[in-house]
Amino acid sequence: MTAVTERNTSHTQREFTTFHPATGEIFASYPVTSDAEIAERVARARASAQWWAALSFNERRKILLKWNSLLISKLDEAVTLIVAESGKPASDATLEASLACEHVAWAAEKAHLYLRTHHRSPGLLMANMRAHVDRVPYGVVGVIGPWNYPIFTPMGSIAYALAAGNAVIFKPSEFTPAIGLWLEKTLCQVLPDRDLLQVITGAGSVGASLIAHGVDKISFTGSTATAKKVAAACVEKMIPFLLECGGKDPVLVDVDADLERAADQTLWSGMANAGQSCIGAERVYVHEKVADRFIEILKSRASHIKAGINYGAATRPAQLEIIQRHVDDALKRGQAIVGDRSSVGERFVEPVIITNVPEDAPSMREETFGPVLLINRVQNMDEAIAKANDTSFGLAASVWSKRNGEKIAAQLHCGMVSINSVFTFAAMGSMPFGGVKDSGMGRIHGPEGLLEFTYPRSVVKPRFNLPLEFTSFTRTAFADKVITSLGRIRHK
Ligand code: NDP
Repeated sequence: MTAVTERNTSHTQREFTTFHPATGEIFASYPVTSDAEIAERVARARASAQWWAALSFNERRKILLKWNSLLISKLDEAVTLIVAESGKPASDATLEASLACEHVAWAAEKAHLYLRTHHRSPGLLMANMRAHVDRVPYGVVGVIGPWNYPIFTPMGSIAYALAAGNAVIFKPSEFTPAIGLWLEKTLCQVLPDRDLLQVITGAGSVGASLIAHGVDKISFTGSTATAKKVAAACVEKMIPFLLECGGKDPVLVDVDADLERAADQTLWSGMANAGQSCIGAERVYVHEKVADRFIEILKSRASHIKAGINYGAATRPAQLEIIQRHVDDALKRGQAIVGDRSSVGERFVEPVIITNVPEDAPSMREETFGPVLLINRVQNMDEAIAKANDTSFGLAASVWSKRNGEKIAAQLHCGMVSINSVFTFAAMGSMPFGGVKDSGMGRIHGPEGLLEFTYPRSVVKPRFNLPLEFTSFTRTAFADKVITSLGRIRHK
């Protein structure tokens, strides 16, 4: 058998191996789920989905909360698996897993509020009718997940899809399958006879095969390039999809910002998780009047941050090439504040901060996904807003201003903005998460995330029959007159 290898995974046609990103040691081997098996899993999921959708919101809530209690009681197991395959520190893995559980609880508790049947006004013309909208689960939702937050990110789809009444088949990244299998195992402990959450393992071709087997909705997180392939495959089969892709997230620092907090949290946003956060800071636009002070604080704080201590190894080895290319590019065009080209190591990347990089540089336009911050001075916030928006991406942004936060936020073309803070919307069950432009479409989390995994079914029924028939060949000229007269009265 031919082996396709990239460090951190090694593949044959039947199985693949994962490695500890921090050490390169082998962690575990997994089967590559075959086409035939995927077909069988989809059929099993469909049967379970029917049973699950027929339960009441309250019955589903109880089961999901029981699962969540089990997840929380075994959080240490989850942390060990996440640390092993992603290379992040245990503290970060603990936060990630805990926040994932928050979303399970929110989705389970709130599904009934947003997905119950809603009655609608039939309007004057159809005043004799009763009208309502059901939210119907799709059936089987395929979740294709990334490696950077291997439990938190997919859970944003898994929990909401389950709470909405769907069964889920999850294809984790080939770099981090362990936590996915653990989620499947724990839900099986709560519901031994059902296939509500199944995990298939392998590389991208396994994700492609999941789509080819005709699941009823796809929720994808990853790169824009792969998202386009996923979308094209879904369109071919008329499968609805939700795409959560990357970003080149800007930070805007106004003249009245709390510079200490802005620098502290921008540093964390850009460097935490080794910079592998789709909503992490990559570009900073700081008002020229406070730029020197902001950079000084940032530099001083960055001097205490160390790869391997404050954040972990790069999870995906190929990412290091992208980071190196961006750092080299930015160093050539700008001035280093922290770090140099040797900051990009074999497994770890030390913090890099570079200033005055031209806006058209690849390092300013493409997603870096590493602990690299590029900082440019601006004359005012109008310039900052224009530059922040001048990107193909539109995921998240962070704004630092005591007086003008909302005003600036309202002008940013992106899915999420945090004012005088970073990341916090991701921890709120109630807030939708997702982007625009190359950052994707559709939303996980919040009411929108629940609605995303259902479709509306409009149902109407006469309360009484009118003497005038509009939907019949017996319709008279008088009925036509009534319709036009009513229209004229109401809309003149
Ligand atoms: P990809 O977009 O290639 O992969 C994301 C997921 O899609 C993985 O599970 C992958 O499987 C799967 N996949 C790959 N090809 C297909 C396909 N044709 N059909 C269905 N599923 C497929 O991301 P990478 O891991 O290659 O990372 C590349 C870049 O993506 C990074 O540099 C980063 O910029 C960005 N990224 C953004 C993330 C975000 O949070 N928005 C998360 C991760 C990456 P497998 O990995 O097993 O091959």
